[in-house]
Amino acid sequence: MGRQSRRGRNELRVKWGGRCQRCGYSRCLSALEFHHLYPELKVGRSNAPVGEVRRHPERFMLICSNCSHEIHDCGQVHFRGNVACPEAS
Ligand SMILES: [Zn+2]
Repeated sequence: MGRQSRRGRNELRVKWGGRCQRCGYSRCLSALEFHHLYPELKVGRSNAPVGEVRRHPERFMLICSNCSHEIHDCGQVHFRGNVACPEAS
């Protein structure tokens, strides 16, 4: 991942509110990641390419790495109803 795409990712995180949509964590931007809500639609091996998040914001949720681990390790994957999507409205 180059510098360009990392910056794009951070801009996207800020645009999405800069905080975890699940627990509200906002201390460290780089601890936030885009969680794919529809794993079956994942493109390639990358988790959430910036372009993909921009094109299909309804498919993602911005969460912190703690929540990411909870979701993946504890099988709590059904958060679709709670997603606040900045670009869908
Ligand atoms: Zn969180």
